[in-house]
Amino acid sequence: MPKAGFAWDAVSAETVLYIESANVAGVTTSAQWAVRHFEDKIQDANVTRVVARIPCDRLELPLADWQRTTTYVRWKGDDQPYGPDAPLASTKHQVQTCRSRSAHDDLLVERWLARAIKDGTRLALGRTVLDDRVTEYVDAWMSDPRRISYVALCDECRSTVGHATLLSPCPNDGQSSTPFMELVDLLVEDGPCASTARRALTREAIVAANNRKQDLVGNVTHLPGEGTGRSGARTILDRLIESGWIPLYALLQRDISSF
Ligand SMILES: [Zn+2]
Repeated sequence: MPKAGFAWDAVSAETVLYIESANVAGVTTSAQWAVRHFEDKIQDANVTRVVARIPCDRLELPLADWQRTTTYVRWKGDDQPYGPDAPLASTKHQVQTCRSRSAHDDLLVERWLARAIKDGTRLALGRTVLDDRVTEYVDAWMSDPRRISYVALCDECRSTVGHATLLSPCPNDGQSSTPFMELVDLLVEDGPCASTARRALTREAIVAANNRKQDLVGNVTHLPGEGTGRSGARTILDRLIESGWIPLYALLQRDISSF
């Protein structure tokens, strides 16, 4: 019997049928079993999607009929995050990072988190999220005592150009043997210091996880219909893996009516 049950998707504000499968080969069979097993409740709860989680140690997954929405990656755990600093392409744009502590920084973080939810949901689910729902979700993150946000400031641009927001500790979820730190969102505004800022914020996240002796887990959103081609998500994942991240598991989804 696969691990299966109902889960509340706070962003799309709907109940989904959630399953965990040991491998990609078994995911459809597990979902079919769960759909039959929970048939009555599926009707009552107005469930339209099955969400499946599978371990993924490689990027190519033979996924006919399933849409891959998210891939989770874990930092390999080195003490030397990203090796020595590479020479900066743009020397004028020196980026400093620090913990977000001021109301001004938190307001920016709040806006970036809202944008991440809106863009992520639009891209992955093809839906617009109601503003109230976004506010609710962002408020929950902002007031979470486990939240740690770093912001990047550029002297040349005279502005805060991006953030990395983490939650720590996240409970052991079966993929990681100990509590871990989740990189909820890392977002940097386009501009001349974007890559420097992204790198500096990633470094902050890695150091924060290493200091707490926790695994650092991040995620990449996939677009519908991207298949196995070299899409945006695939390119991002390739880059992450090259720099030392390890694929951990993937989330897939499928319309419940297809079972
Ligand atoms: Zn700059």
